[in-house]
Amino acid sequence: MDLSIDNHIDNHIRRAKQIEQGSLLVISGPSGVGKGTLVKQVLPQMENLTLSVSMTTRSPRPGEVHGENYFFVSEEEFLSLKAENAFLEAAVYNGNHYGTPKPFVLEQMQAGHDVILEIDVQGAAQVRANFDYKTIQIFVLPPSHAELKARLENRRTETVEIIDQRLARVAKEVAELPIYDYYIINDSLERACDDLKAIIRAERLRVRAQAPLPETR
Ligand code: ADP
Ligand code: 5GP
Repeated sequence: MDLSIDNHIDNHIRRAKQIEQGSLLVISGPSGVGKGTLVKQVLPQMENLTLSVSMTTRSPRPGEVHGENYFFVSEEEFLSLKAENAFLEAAVYNGNHYGTPKPFVLEQMQAGHDVILEIDVQGAAQVRANFDYKTIQIFVLPPSHAELKARLENRRTETVEIIDQRLARVAKEVAELPIYDYYIINDSLERACDDLKAIIRAERLRVRAQAPLPETR
């Protein structure tokens, strides 16, 4: 066989496998659907996968750790960072500010890690509109509205009033589903985790848009 053809094929295989930078995975869905549970389970099971820790002005729930679940900051601090353009996206959800710190996400992606953002539909829309790179947008659905309500109630982290406010947003959130790339129904947690891993694996096997074009002779 012609050696130069062998070399040519090997070059293509090398390029296909070359991951120049990580991808940005956006996970949205109603409060209480199980986004946090799902992501926490999948993270240690996959290599090169990092979770972005958001910043918020909401109060920590019992057991939540600063720097792990969120960076809990004052409204003044949040707004000053926002004015410095320190967020990849930022939104108000039920009266509290939430935002994704930009430098961490970009550093991790540059280091070849896929980064997960667990953010609401407003934040996802901003990422879609403003982020220069392709993102993978995943929407998590509950098996039913009744089960969603039950999960929020059983979590026992919010008052009845706040649970009602969160449930009141669900119809508007679910209406955004058609503009996402994938959906996962979080019925069986094990099945939902498998679905999330399958999406990440398939996306990692995509022929990268940024791969150099083949030489023409
Ligand atoms: P989110 O991050 O979307 O607000 P959580 O991850 O906090 O939701 O999950 C809400 C509640 O539902 C938690 O108490 C969690 O243990 C529970 N939960 C999550 N996934 C499932 C599931 N597949 N089946 C039953 N309960 C679940
Ligand atoms: P919670 O108060 O339950 O932790 O979060 C409330 C909502 O805010 C959830 O839908 C969650 O995904 C979203 N959220 C968390 N962090 C961010 C963020 O950095 N940006 C945006 N836009 N939403 C976020």
